[in-house]
Amino acid sequence: MPNNIDSNKANKQNTLTPYCSFIKYTVATAIDPDGTLHATRCNCSFCQKLGNTNLRVASPSTDFNLLQPASMHDNENVGDYSKDPAKMHRWFCKKCSVLVYMEGVLEWEGQEVGFFMVNVGSIDQPQEGVDLGKIKLQYFDMLNDNIQGGLKAEPWGNGLP
Ligand SMILES: [Zn+2]
Ligand SMILES: [Zn+2]
Repeated sequence: MPNNIDSNKANKQNTLTPYCSFIKYTVATAIDPDGTLHATRCNCSFCQKLGNTNLRVASPSTDFNLLQPASMHDNENVGDYSKDPAKMHRWFCKKCSVLVYMEGVLEWEGQEVGFFMVNVGSIDQPQEGVDLGKIKLQYFDMLNDNIQGGLKAEPWGNGLP
């Protein structure tokens, strides 16, 4: 299993090896030289009630590697919670209920843009090279369907910090 973590290098692609009791994956993401991992939170009802923290994977075909199960959409073992299947799928482990990854499309400046995110909370700790205690969050305002408002350093309101 690749785990080439060198947090002394700025903007290096770090491979994280998270784990839930069944789903296993690696994800490559940049971690600052001081160990800061950048992620986002969202105040929509779903993220809020789940306490979900999102890490966007810009290029899932190269940076996300599912080790188990064989398919991301293995409906026997991976549940798909989706209020609006055309726009968003939130995949969770049916064995332990942990939300692991989300994929969908967002409307951005009049265009439909695909996105893929992993739930940072599903990453194993402790793990060399990544300390979730050093996470730096930015905030979306999806409670008000305000994707155009972008990311802020402070919560938009009505959401957990
Ligand atoms: Zn949300
Ligand atoms: Zn699980």
